[in-house]
Amino acid sequence: MRKEFLEPNPCCGYVTDMTESLDHIMGEGPDTLPNAGDLIVCLNCGAVLVIIDPKTNRSRPVRRQDIEALSTKERRDLSSAQKYIRKRGWIPREAKRRSDS
Ligand SMILES: [Zn+2]
Repeated sequence: MRKEFLEPNPCCGYVTDMTESLDHIMGEGPDTLPNAGDLIVCLNCGAVLVIIDPKTNRSRPVRRQDIEALSTKERRDLSSAQKYIRKRGWIPREAKRRSDS
């Protein structure tokens, strides 16, 4: 599903296209769009964000209580995703965008 306008993430300005869920990527569930209140990981910088409006990709930085509401497995999956993204580093196109601005 393409949207008219997607807001950039508040962390690094990357525009996440929320068309695949972590459960789906991990082969553990169907591919569903996120709902308001769901957590996402920025694919560029690894920041954890909370969806405010899935239609526009509007999100906010995660707060401690958002993390505390997760199961142990969810926290572990989130941490693994963050480590992978941060080890990989910024997406080259995004790094170039930042250096150009
Ligand atoms: Zn980011």
